[in-house]
Amino acid sequence: MFSHLLLKGRARKLKARILVLGKPSDYDRETVNTARIRYMEEAIEMIKSENIEKEIKSIQENMVAEEELRLLTSSQKEQKPDVASDYLLLCKCGHFKIDCGTVRLIEQVNYAVLDVEIWDKIEEKPLAKKPSVKDLIMQSEWYHTGCKQKLGTIFLYKNVRVPYLAQTSFSFQLKSDDKRRELVNKWKKLPFQVPAINMKELLEYQKALMKKN
Ligand SMILES: [Zn+2]
Repeated sequence: MFSHLLLKGRARKLKARILVLGKPSDYDRETVNTARIRYMEEAIEMIKSENIEKEIKSIQENMVAEEELRLLTSSQKEQKPDVASDYLLLCKCGHFKIDCGTVRLIEQVNYAVLDVEIWDKIEEKPLAKKPSVKDLIMQSEWYHTGCKQKLGTIFLYKNVRVPYLAQTSFSFQLKSDDKRRELVNKWKKLPFQVPAINMKELLEYQKALMKKN
């Protein structure tokens, strides 16, 4: 058996804390249990705070980097007026409309609609070609139910089913002027700024989607 002193010395060398239990008669059970509980609580607090601090730091760093990246890349582009909600995107049949205020930019290149209402007007079909490994998050193609026109692909973005928009399937117009309608062709040619998606609205969208189904 190790002597009490030897144990204490080892513990000091390892910078550890030890709970030395004496003969049962030396301590009353209540004291030992209280000490055990305190040590366990301390240990749990230590583990929790270290992990959470690290996690928060990493999340913050990522958010800052993402925002910096966004500013960096958007400053290279021409700045467009922030009036998306003045516009509509239309299916070529003219009967399927998307309020451009609900369109979001995902990963700088993809345009998607975050409006749970559109799910009532569309239908899904299996992907025409099998996705490559890289595109495994592609789920299906989506079509306007009314005219059977293909409008895009449903993607899983952060595990949320999001309808991405095919730029060649849409035209756009001002809500106030339904006489003048133009083909989109290239998203970059839209006359308004499409905001980047943010996690808060993606979460709200997912909640609304779950409520709907
Ligand atoms: Zn249509």
